[in-house]
Amino acid sequence: MTKDSGCFLCGPLTDRGGFVAVGSGIGVTGDLAPIQNGHALLFHEEHYLSFSRVPDASMVVVKEACHTLSEYWGNRSRTSIFFEHGPLGGSGNFVGCCDHAHIHSLPVSDELVASEGEVAHAISRRLHEEVGKGNVRSVDQISVDDLSNLKDIEYFWFSVDLNTLLVFELLKPERQFMRRITSQILGVETYRTWDMVDFSSAAQTTEIAKSLF
Ligand SMILES: [Zn+2]
Ligand SMILES: [Zn+2]
Repeated sequence: MTKDSGCFLCGPLTDRGGFVAVGSGIGVTGDLAPIQNGHALLFHEEHYLSFSRVPDASMVVVKEACHTLSEYWGNRSRTSIFFEHGPLGGSGNFVGCCDHAHIHSLPVSDELVASEGEVAHAISRRLHEEVGKGNVRSVDQISVDDLSNLKDIEYFWFSVDLNTLLVFELLKPERQFMRRITSQILGVETYRTWDMVDFSSAAQTTEIAKSLF
């Protein structure tokens, strides 16, 4: 197993109640700095830089796990969105999210957006504005099974179902870019991990994941 001693996702994650293994080396745990309650991370138990470097076979399990989370939150009037905010190389830049393959699963409450179409549309529109500003470049939509094509660029993607991904390349690298965009669209005041730490919410999310898998 490849592990990095300085990486929190390589650790036992005890600060948020551990994690649950869902198969094929994939784990689910609560995000310690939830943008919304229920904010979870799907990660590979080995220290891959990003999912573009994880063997393809694992993505079946990732998709199934995302579907399970979507269904759980959908039954509670929450719309799930998913994003991976790509590899920004070098743990020397560590501020919050880490250089370890993980996907954010974020259930958005109905008070914030009326429908899945609406939140997806708002995020998509916002990302295309960033294209206009020259901060990001739009990459052809690809399947989650084809992420290996992206392994050499500073990519990030956004999806509501993991069947269709909106993929972009960061031209002006910014840590936690998708956390910022998503928080702003949801009207959440901050997005930085260190401003949003909520141990009890994260532990609750981990408990929910443990009950589902
Ligand atoms: Zn790691
Ligand atoms: Zn992250």
